[in-house]
Amino acid sequence: MSNKKELVIELIHPPHPQSIEDRLDAPLGLLYIASNLEKEGYLVRINDLSGVDEKDWKIGEADIYGTTIYAPTVNISEKIAKECKRINPYSVVVAGGAHPTAVPDKIGKSFDVVGIGEGEEIMLDIAREYPNNKRFYKKDLERNLDKYPHPAYHLVDPFSYKRKFEGEQAITLLTSRGCPYRCAFCGLAEQHKTMKYRSPENILEEIKFIQKKYGINKFNFQDDTFTVNKKRLYKMLDLFKPLNIGFRAHGRSGLDTLEDYILLKEAGCDVIAWGIESGSQKILDLMNKQTTVENNENVIKWAKEAGLTTHAFFVIGFPGEDKDTLEETKNFIERTNPDQYFVSNFVPYPGTDVWNNPKKYGVKKIHTNFEKYYQVDKEGFGSRNIEVENIDIEMFKELEKDFRGWINQRMQRGSVQEYEEKIMKKLKWKENLNLKEK
Ligand code: SF4
Repeated sequence: MSNKKELVIELIHPPHPQSIEDRLDAPLGLLYIASNLEKEGYLVRINDLSGVDEKDWKIGEADIYGTTIYAPTVNISEKIAKECKRINPYSVVVAGGAHPTAVPDKIGKSFDVVGIGEGEEIMLDIAREYPNNKRFYKKDLERNLDKYPHPAYHLVDPFSYKRKFEGEQAITLLTSRGCPYRCAFCGLAEQHKTMKYRSPENILEEIKFIQKKYGINKFNFQDDTFTVNKKRLYKMLDLFKPLNIGFRAHGRSGLDTLEDYILLKEAGCDVIAWGIESGSQKILDLMNKQTTVENNENVIKWAKEAGLTTHAFFVIGFPGEDKDTLEETKNFIERTNPDQYFVSNFVPYPGTDVWNNPKKYGVKKIHTNFEKYYQVDKEGFGSRNIEVENIDIEMFKELEKDFRGWINQRMQRGSVQEYEEKIMKKLKWKENLNLKEK
């Protein structure tokens, strides 16, 4: 049993080797773990190495180190663990995050302890039992998330992160954990067996705190399920209205209505995003998206009608994808014309249904060089980590090149169009001004 007053805990967020937007958001998961430890009297530091070159890493002396591992950071996180041990050979080094949760047995011996699941309760147990720790820790969060303190923003500089809305600093919030859906390419639902929520009042309290302490009025709600629980959504939107905030949230096709989007807009929502994934019903069904192409078209149309900026996420290369299904996605994009879109390559992350049951999806082989488990790299291309019946890796790369070439051209067309529209607006404004002056 440890004396908590003497323990120093450093929580380290690794740099992402391929991320195109490293240091976009503060490491929210670590900030939650930190505040929960601080509540119990532990001394905690956050060391966010995202965007930091290895030669510039500065790791402090601590008794317990906690390091996040994502699939593509496996090697980098391992290096961090070794560095922690070099600094304090008697320390306990903990691995946590989505990757150790999915494949705890594959975590290297540079880590003394592996956390399975969300870290708040686990890190508390590890600190309490230090230095007599076990190899594996697993403990679920309380169902009522209001029991946990707000993230420890005071341990980072919120203004050092890149996420901005209309040039203003934004901050990312999480109002729930888990997801009621079971998409075959996503491990989120597996990580959180049941949905857990914060109350609207608890979220309001956090927003007001951030407004008062940092003067930040732009918020990015990270929940994939922000609009799923309608009763909670309407209550949140009612509470947000007087705050004069701007925010971005994720919607759900097949559930959301035009009225929902009007209410979101009235409460300050500027951008709504969806995991649209594909314009092919065949691919949506294979992915177990539990929605239709028609539903996807409707949400984009309604959001535009409500005056929201629309952001669609697509995934290409899911097993079963071919030239025809990619063509359907191109047609979908042409028809619906989302304001913003992002295209990821399918990655068979550990813990997903494709990873667990590859045969069900016609996957002959999954490559497990986790460093290549990124959705898109700095050059704008994704990786291919599966071998399937109908398309070999080289053929897929050709299809990807064609698809991304088409998307890039379209985006350039979009930006030229936007630029021209802006110029026209300016000219019109000047014209009006001249008329008034005359
Ligand atoms: S992709 Fe989104 S909707 Fe599907 S399981 Fe994951 S979080 Fe839920």
